[in-house]
Amino acid sequence: MRKIGLVGWRGMVGSVLRKRMLEEKDFELIEPFFFTTSQAGQTSPVVADEVYTLLDAYDLKALTDMDVIITCQGSEYTNDIHSKLRNFGWKGYWIDAASALRMNDQSVIVLDPVNLSLIQESLATGIRDFIGGNCTVSLMLMGLGGLFKANLVEWATAMTYQAASGAGAKNMLELIHQMGAISSSVGTQLDSPEFGILDIDETVTQCLRSAEFPVDSWGFPLAGSILPWIGDAKENGQSGEEWKNEAETNKILGNIESAVSLDGLCVRIGAMRCHSQALTIKLRKDIAITDIENLIDESNSWSTIVPNEKDATLEGLTPAAVAGSLTVPVGRIRRMNIGRRYISAFTAGDQLLWGAAEPLRRMLRIVLDYLD
Ligand code: NAP
Repeated sequence: MRKIGLVGWRGMVGSVLRKRMLEEKDFELIEPFFFTTSQAGQTSPVVADEVYTLLDAYDLKALTDMDVIITCQGSEYTNDIHSKLRNFGWKGYWIDAASALRMNDQSVIVLDPVNLSLIQESLATGIRDFIGGNCTVSLMLMGLGGLFKANLVEWATAMTYQAASGAGAKNMLELIHQMGAISSSVGTQLDSPEFGILDIDETVTQCLRSAEFPVDSWGFPLAGSILPWIGDAKENGQSGEEWKNEAETNKILGNIESAVSLDGLCVRIGAMRCHSQALTIKLRKDIAITDIENLIDESNSWSTIVPNEKDATLEGLTPAAVAGSLTVPVGRIRRMNIGRRYISAFTAGDQLLWGAAEPLRRMLRIVLDYLD
């Protein structure tokens, strides 16, 4: 059996990865080794009826013994360890959730339902670094990849509604604390007829602006508000998250000479783990909406069409409906008033599954098949 080193397995992405690997019985195919940056020598949780002694994630000797390393530890770890391993002569496969290596020439961004042939060609040419994509980009391509693959997209904008989980577990917990603080601030006012809605609204606004409101992780109120900036600032005025859309989409699709133009605004909202996005797409040609829906529906086993009807949309095209599922619904597909080649679409997807862990565990399977 191949030796597989797991780093970052107890973080948020790593926990979802382990859960999915157990569900899909991946552990039966590998000899796993659990590494940690902080708990070497301690024991792992029970994984497939076994408990493992945790190894030091900075021990290059132990790491170079692995055929494959999957890391969900973060870019700081990748930047520290990856080049040391390669300089050490390690020829194993590096599968990574962090963004650090995504745009390297010697890396492929993995999303196999969309770019399996690129992944396979890269393996055959000796590429050994396979990196999970940005969650919003991966979810857009899982939903609308059929249109990109058919070369129908001239340009698109993605206006995002991104969940708290993208910022990590601490931030998810703080969002819930913020919700609780708002609810507590109005307390009995909610059910007392003497308090009108304007009184209650004023209490909530004061609560959001008070010095006691819990904002250690977010910096600002997210519950009862939104945060229209995600990531660092680029010189052209984009946020880092917005920059990734065009760059990573074209890299995933292997569009070396014919990049599709993409842009948009990325906004954090108070959803827990599902990112949503509203797209405006300019098509290269005028085609029927039913043809568009068929291309989307048939492009992979997880994209589904939600009819552009109120009940179906509110039932099936929301973070509340989609959380915990691998399905990526796409709806609100209609021709826009601004011209026949302009269509709208809305998609929602679990950002911890297709947006983070799932492409990594599937890449492990692809590498295992390749090595056999
Ligand atoms: P995370 O939850 O902060 O976990 C990272 C590491 O923190 C863990 O592996 C663990 O390392 C350490 N840690 C310290 N205290 C912990 C505690 N109480 N519980 C669990 N872990 C603890 O990070 P993440 O959100 O999973 O993200 C990991 C990487 O994936 C990042 O590069 C991120 O950018 C990328 N990514 C994240 C998402 C997302 O949605 N969050 C999506 C795509 C990509 P030790 O065991 O070594 O101490």
